[in-house]
Amino acid sequence: MNNRVREEINRRRLLEKERAQRLGEWAQGNEAGPFKLMFFPTNTCNLECAICWQRKGVHDYSELSAKRQVDLIDEAIEIGVREFVIGGGGEPLMRWKTLRPLFEKIRAADLYGMLFTNGTLIGSETAANLVDMKWNKVLISLDGLKESNDCVRTAGSFDRIAQGIQCLLDKRGNRSLPVIGVGCVLTRQSIRDLPHLMDFLGKQGCDQLNLIRLVVYTESQREYAVTPTEMDELQGILESSQKTAASFGMVTNLAEYMDGNIIKQAESFEHILLSDRTLAAGGQSFWNSLCFEPFSNMVVHSNGMVGPCCMSGDASLESLVEQSLADVWYGEKFSSLRQGILSRCPESYCRICDINVFAENQRLRALGGSL
Ligand code: SF4
Repeated sequence: MNNRVREEINRRRLLEKERAQRLGEWAQGNEAGPFKLMFFPTNTCNLECAICWQRKGVHDYSELSAKRQVDLIDEAIEIGVREFVIGGGGEPLMRWKTLRPLFEKIRAADLYGMLFTNGTLIGSETAANLVDMKWNKVLISLDGLKESNDCVRTAGSFDRIAQGIQCLLDKRGNRSLPVIGVGCVLTRQSIRDLPHLMDFLGKQGCDQLNLIRLVVYTESQREYAVTPTEMDELQGILESSQKTAASFGMVTNLAEYMDGNIIKQAESFEHILLSDRTLAAGGQSFWNSLCFEPFSNMVVHSNGMVGPCCMSGDASLESLVEQSLADVWYGEKFSSLRQGILSRCPESYCRICDINVFAENQRLRALGGSL
């Protein structure tokens, strides 16, 4: 493991500890500001991936004004956000000119910043900007090697993505930031590619691979879902991929996908959430919450609608167009959502809850129990 990966693991551990301490305020009956802000600046994209949530149909393409976006970051810093995730929605780098000053603001305040991008728009200037501002992490969507990726994402996209990754790696050179990794959606196409993809990324010099679960939004997306038979092979594929990752010193979240029960119930996740897995040892009531996202996370969509997590999508609660972040966070709708999750009543979108978020929640639960 190289120093960059080691430092990133330590940074993430410290952030998680701090996040659990912030949640401790709620556990004691106090209110506390959000720890993380996810901002999806645009729904516009230069690719047309078959597995994207946008294949659901028509979307709102309106966007917050540049001024409102600047104010949003200022308000987030003021309310205590420590971690920013910029993603989509659509492709954030379609709006790099507006985003760049926001990224600089986040880093100038010494806050953690992560960018989720399809990578095709990373040219030498954008790469140099991200390296110069010491942006913390860039995760690039890549769903397998050329044939698999181009089948699931957009024809010809593999070469453009690989070029974007290479450009960023070249600009970074030996510097410690940003951490550069890939987000790979687990599909029927990508599953067998995984060990080879890991080898390809390791040889390029990438630091991380994160698996992401596929959410089937439309019947035509069903053809990309891993079948039960393929699911039985998953364990072996993950183990071999982990060995390859370790040989390159890369960090992964593959262990989170090794729990067969979770993977098999991924499309009806409320059963996992309502099981005794989400009950904290010792019976502390707050730490028995189904999830901690509504207590520590906000997702701001391009049109200014706000929800508690990236699964909440169309069911977002309120708009930031004419309200401040604090008004929404401490307002009635967020409070009532928190009450529901705390009383172990899942929202309809909890059915598609993310495996990575669940794993993070479980770590927070364990940390909270020991506060
Ligand atoms: S979908 Fe998952 S992360 Fe979102 S509120 Fe439900 S349990 Fe929490």
